[in-house]
Amino acid sequence: MSVAQTVLKDTFGYDAFRGQQQAIIDSVIAGTDALVIMPTGGGKSLCYQIPSLVREGCGVVISPLIALMQDQVDALKELGIRAGFLNSTQAAADSYAIENALVTGELDLLYIAPERLSQPRTVNLLQQATISLFAIDEAHCVSQWGHDFRADYLRLHHLAEAFPNVPRMALTATADARTQQEIIERLCIQQAKAFVAGFDRPNICYHIELKQQPKQQLLRFIKERHSEDSGIVYCLSRKKTEDIAAWLTAQGFTALPYHAGMPYETRALHQQRFLREEKVIIVATIAFGMGIDKPDVRFVAHLDLPKSIEAYYQETGRAGRDGEPANAWMVYGLEDVIKLREMMGSAVGGTEEKNEFKRVEHQKLESMLGLCEITSCRRHALLHYFGDESPAQCGNCDMCKNPAETWDGTEASQKAISCAYRTDQRFGVNHLIDVLSGANTEKIKQFAHQKLSVYGIGKELNKVQWRSVYRQLIARNFLQVDFANFNRILLTENCRPILKGEASIELRKDVVQKTALRKSSANTKATLDQHKTDLWELLRECRLDLAQAKGVPPYVVFHDSVLMQMVEELPSNIAHFSRLSGVGQKKCDQYASAFIAVIQEYADKKKNNIITNGELSPTVEETYRLISSGEIPEAIATQRQLALSTIYTHISQLIRFSKVELSDVVKLTQSELHQIEGVFVECGLMDEMAKLKPAYDGLAEAYSYSVLRCVHADFVRRL
Ligand SMILES: [Zn+2]
Repeated sequence: MSVAQTVLKDTFGYDAFRGQQQAIIDSVIAGTDALVIMPTGGGKSLCYQIPSLVREGCGVVISPLIALMQDQVDALKELGIRAGFLNSTQAAADSYAIENALVTGELDLLYIAPERLSQPRTVNLLQQATISLFAIDEAHCVSQWGHDFRADYLRLHHLAEAFPNVPRMALTATADARTQQEIIERLCIQQAKAFVAGFDRPNICYHIELKQQPKQQLLRFIKERHSEDSGIVYCLSRKKTEDIAAWLTAQGFTALPYHAGMPYETRALHQQRFLREEKVIIVATIAFGMGIDKPDVRFVAHLDLPKSIEAYYQETGRAGRDGEPANAWMVYGLEDVIKLREMMGSAVGGTEEKNEFKRVEHQKLESMLGLCEITSCRRHALLHYFGDESPAQCGNCDMCKNPAETWDGTEASQKAISCAYRTDQRFGVNHLIDVLSGANTEKIKQFAHQKLSVYGIGKELNKVQWRSVYRQLIARNFLQVDFANFNRILLTENCRPILKGEASIELRKDVVQKTALRKSSANTKATLDQHKTDLWELLRECRLDLAQAKGVPPYVVFHDSVLMQMVEELPSNIAHFSRLSGVGQKKCDQYASAFIAVIQEYADKKKNNIITNGELSPTVEETYRLISSGEIPEAIATQRQLALSTIYTHISQLIRFSKVELSDVVKLTQSELHQIEGVFVECGLMDEMAKLKPAYDGLAEAYSYSVLRCVHADFVRRL
């Protein structure tokens, strides 16, 4: 086994590298520069973390995502890695301690912001230390054409001169060929070995539907598929994020807005809650998400069209980083096309460079519109855009699952175009549709449009269908919208062959309302049967307790996939636990006993033999002994290295068998007790084995499961 493999197993808990990881890691360990293009969720960070641990000295990670550094460092510390960060949010004493650790060789990984590196002081500091490598993360930020350009990235080419013998890696999740070239040139890594991984994210299901009643469509999507999940909803405007978040909250979800206009503290708080709690929905502008490390985002929804396929792919790529099924869902309509084209403005006037920039922007929007309108596999089109080969059908997108029907739209298109032409290209879509449908409006009378040859020639289609025709003609650039003049519709050169009858055109049939969506396949839990679901919930509670005690997000303790393995394999000892994929040495030492205890409790409870002959199991007995000697539950949990929820499970059993008084462990007023017991009755939770989730939800999460379990035990005892 190579050193890198040993680190992979012992520190990170994985048996084998994925994809190109090994090749990249070997190459960097050997001291070669690297360009790494790897999709989100592909295991990009391991590519610099492992060489940093294997090579002598400290690995320096340059990242623009200051707000996330704390979590990244916490997650590494959980693995037993000596990590730290330097950024502007830090107290002077803290940064001094990190700097000291760096120069004395007591640091494995250091995260720093790019602006920090432009300070000579920082460069001096790094020169006093041994640096194993530089990893320039989110390297596409160096591209002036890109949507995330950061001027500080342009200064990073100095690293080549200042540290000639230290290998440099540029990493990003999305970069087309042009951006890749820019990264190489601007970061001076011409000698770098390029590793361009496939872009495919097979676990993400793509779905784009016609925008009709967007809020209702969104609600239906979340309710039917993701009622128990975390997700991100993207909107174009700040105000809309707040409206949608408020509305989802009113519908009973935990939804928080996020945009650049909010006070920093509020933004940080909302991001924090999204990372640390479960089932939180963030409603955000594109200001949210770069580098978001949360692996269990189960859906990304777009209520407005992104400006490019790169942006769409990056935003949807935040779903399902743990490799479990996830949904990328979007609604799109004519108004999106008009709004975005308007925002981009016209390409005339201004400097040559500015015009070039606009031209590129327009092209990117065209491609995005193309993706919305296609009638073939979305994934195939996406991958093709990034230059990846893939099968014509993926089987995991809306077009593969419910192929779109097309119709010969040649005649309708001729009518739609003629109508714009006969009205002198002076009117917007709504009026053109009125003319085609033979409507009797003031405007028609005012301009005497009822006398035109095109008046009333379109009665075979309804207004929605005509909008669909116009949308597709605009998206495909047969017509264009003149924003400067009341959104009037103009003809383009492209429409000539259609008008002349020399070309035919296939249009897609918009599906007005799909049949009920299938129940979530993008839900880890959905694949479990009922008794496994119970254990899954208990393990999740245990994970949340452990995470909250440490102040880290739950996934930093373990990913969902590790919990799933526990449910499937029911490890009953440390040796078995340590073999689960994703369980490294440090985490095994820290957490194995807590989770094994939950699994054990559960198995015991299932067999119902904890107290069958009036005897407590040894572990409950031990908790009883400590409670009796006056210890509080928190202290017992710490002392026994068990999750607090486990201790409360013990206590609830002690209450159930009258060994402990409820009032000794849980401080509640009489009216609170009545309220809780009232909900037990309402929800029919009269049985000892009843699941308490309905009560937890019914009480608006005002009481923890631990409290509810104890009250329930007392309640059942008195029945
Ligand atoms: Zn497909």
